[in-house]
Amino acid sequence: MDLPLSKRVQEVAPSPTLFITAKAKKMKQDGIDVIGLGAGEPDFNTPENIIQAAYKSMENGFTKYTPSTGIPELKKAIVQKLERDQGVRYKEEQIFVGTGAKHVLYSAFQTILNPGDEVIIPVPYWVTYPEQVKLAGGVPVFVEAGFEADFKISPANFEKHITPKTKAIVLNSPNNPTGMCYSKAELKALADIAVKHNLWIVSDEIYEKLYYGNPSDVVSVSSLSPEIYAHTILINGVSKAYSMTGWRIGYAAADENVIRGMGKLADHMTSNPTANAQYAAVEAYNGPQDVPEKMYQAFSERMARFYPQLEEIPGFKPKKPDGAFYFFIDASEAARRKGYESVDAFADALLTEALVAVIPGSGFGMPDYIRLSYATDPELFQEALNRLKDFMN
Ligand code: PMP
Ligand code: GLU
Repeated sequence: MDLPLSKRVQEVAPSPTLFITAKAKKMKQDGIDVIGLGAGEPDFNTPENIIQAAYKSMENGFTKYTPSTGIPELKKAIVQKLERDQGVRYKEEQIFVGTGAKHVLYSAFQTILNPGDEVIIPVPYWVTYPEQVKLAGGVPVFVEAGFEADFKISPANFEKHITPKTKAIVLNSPNNPTGMCYSKAELKALADIAVKHNLWIVSDEIYEKLYYGNPSDVVSVSSLSPEIYAHTILINGVSKAYSMTGWRIGYAAADENVIRGMGKLADHMTSNPTANAQYAAVEAYNGPQDVPEKMYQAFSERMARFYPQLEEIPGFKPKKPDGAFYFFIDASEAARRKGYESVDAFADALLTEALVAVIPGSGFGMPDYIRLSYATDPELFQEALNRLKDFMN
């Protein structure tokens, strides 16, 4: 077929996180004993009470269209959650529920950007932000923060990249792919600059529950001042905190005008997030919180167990994460020692020769790095580390 696809679709890059995860799964199906450390997806089942809530909702007939931006019960549960956990007050009219945080972010960029608008994205970034910005006609502007800076951008460097076309900055703390977490003071310094230049702050807080330091250090950006609150589009969801990646429920909390805009898009795109998944999410927020607590403990134990081993692999230079469930490792020396001209090629060899699937850092804007997800059965993770050690020795 020689009918060309849209320029928009031709220019968008596929998601490397999803691509490599699918490739590893396919290799496994074909009988190859590969260990996937690709996807950032908790290896626990969704808690039983949440599954039961979804069953019950279907038995009670909640199998029909819902309001396009979410059922009132879920908006109420989210409002209560934000007040309980983050100390920030929102009205139900300020909440948009979508089909996963990814769809919510997509809707937010579509709502706030005009063609040519610039969006500041700190590097490394989650693979999806630049593509979503481009799909909304925007232009990603990258601000670098390297290993020595703990992957944290400085306020001065942020401000230097602002132009008359800048419309927003994306903040993601705790961060994917590094696990880095900004302190309250660091976040406020960045957010104050955004307010000074009248920018939107798209704050992706999906790893909020996964911080291994003092919990009071993790704050929502919107809690930092009334002006910052007014400029923030807070993004979160149930995927990571409640091991509900497949249910596809995420949300935004923001200015009512933005939420109405996002709602108009949902009217024509999804009609509503899946009904039973919304009832499941109500239970996630209102029900017992012991399972997320157990998952947090498990991830934090894995981090403590595996990080020292990574430091010992020849050529690997990891950075100790503050949160989330990823190790981000400078593997340029490892690639050089094994004779590969790039870390991309090295990551490919890890998959085909060491049988360990990792995500190359190029997808996150840092091509010298690899990302390993420890949201993986710990014994499998240990076996993967043994394979990496053998490969490098
Ligand atoms: N933001 C970040 C930083 C993520 O890592 C993910 C992982 N998928 C998402 C958003 C999207 O989450 P969801 O499953 O809710 O779409
Ligand atoms: N966010 C997860 C990751 O970074 C899941 C895959 C995706 O949605 O990109 O691996």
